[in-house]
Amino acid sequence: MIVGVPRETAAGETRVALTPDAAKRLAGKGVTVRVEAGAGTAAGYPDAAYQNAGCEVTDRAQALAGDIVLAVQAPAQPETVREGAVLIGAFAPLTNPGLVRAFAQRKLTTFSLELLPRITRAQSMDILSSMSTVAGYKAVLIAAAASGKFFPMLVTAAGTIAPSRVFVLGAGVAGLQAIATARRLGAIVEAFDVRPAVKEQVESLGAKFVAADTSDLTAEGEGGYAKEMSEEQHRRELELIHGRLKDTDVVIATALIPGKPAPRLITAAMVRDMKPGSVIVDLAAEMGGNCELTEKGKDVVHHGVTIIGRTNLPATTPHDASQMYARNLTAFLGLLIGKEGQLTLNFEDEIIAGTCITHDGGIPHARVTQLVEGGAA
Ligand code: NAD
Repeated sequence: MIVGVPRETAAGETRVALTPDAAKRLAGKGVTVRVEAGAGTAAGYPDAAYQNAGCEVTDRAQALAGDIVLAVQAPAQPETVREGAVLIGAFAPLTNPGLVRAFAQRKLTTFSLELLPRITRAQSMDILSSMSTVAGYKAVLIAAAASGKFFPMLVTAAGTIAPSRVFVLGAGVAGLQAIATARRLGAIVEAFDVRPAVKEQVESLGAKFVAADTSDLTAEGEGGYAKEMSEEQHRRELELIHGRLKDTDVVIATALIPGKPAPRLITAAMVRDMKPGSVIVDLAAEMGGNCELTEKGKDVVHHGVTIIGRTNLPATTPHDASQMYARNLTAFLGLLIGKEGQLTLNFEDEIIAGTCITHDGGIPHARVTQLVEGGAA
């Protein structure tokens, strides 16, 4: 069995799908790992580290000729992956029907791990949680660097400096990591989420959960995820947030609803009422943004407030992000590679079935099929 690891080709992508440490574990299972020269360089994993871990460092064609090809984002030319190979990565299939068709035409068996069911058995493979952890952490560091204020309270001979006030919107995996990071830096942190269950988690991290006057400001849907609110609930949520923003120095916005545009939680009028010099880091920028003024991929300033819409924050912490991603991938490979190093595809397994987007020239995933047959480009 040959596992190939090509260099990532997407603009700004610095991560690598397999680290030398993770490769060593695979080698122990009788697998040959071929890594394209330079694949790990941007993440701080030089070719020599792969060689020391027992990998073959090869050209791109050889890495793409593996029985299994590991990627972070989609390879630039899917037709260069060996026909019929297994391709594993994070391909955003629900917004990329053209790519899914290209994978199917190449007869690839493709697994897109953002579709992983969030069940206990799949926790070690959960790339969304890993990458949200990185993004939540990095969002706070970006905010601290962009803010003109200290995060901690400082008592100095030149007087006492008040701590920053950070407001985290959405307390899922990224939000909770943002809370923890902002607390470590000494800020006073508040958070809000429509899922009441997170109140305890927010408080256990030393932050205050912003409570609504009435208890019905909740919108919990299937699988422990949020769902869209009614118009009236949304209006009251905006009021609640507006009230808090006036005293806030930094907002970390992370609110998302699976399969929908990001909820709009900060309007232009609300930004106008914030203190000049405040910072909003909008982690929902990729999905349209939680703030009305967010521009995807850009930093903009409105009414003296800096609004940061940068995307792919995990690629700005590539060493550790790659390590987490590679561990998730090797845990997933545990389901595909048998004891003798042979490929096993058990479509009865809900993790395999839930993540497989193309197989044998077809698209076995109902949600993805619907999208591709919907005729989107
Ligand atoms: P997500 O990225 O989909 O959303 C981020 C957060 O935004 C969520 O907490 C959501 O409730 C919140 N949100 C949505 N609309 C909002 C609004 N209008 N106002 C305020 N907040 C809003 O979520 P996630 O980080 O992927 O995690 C979601 C859930 O999945 C959590 O319950 C988490 O514990 C669970 N989870 C389970 C597993 C597992 O393996 N069992 C793994 C990871 C996450």
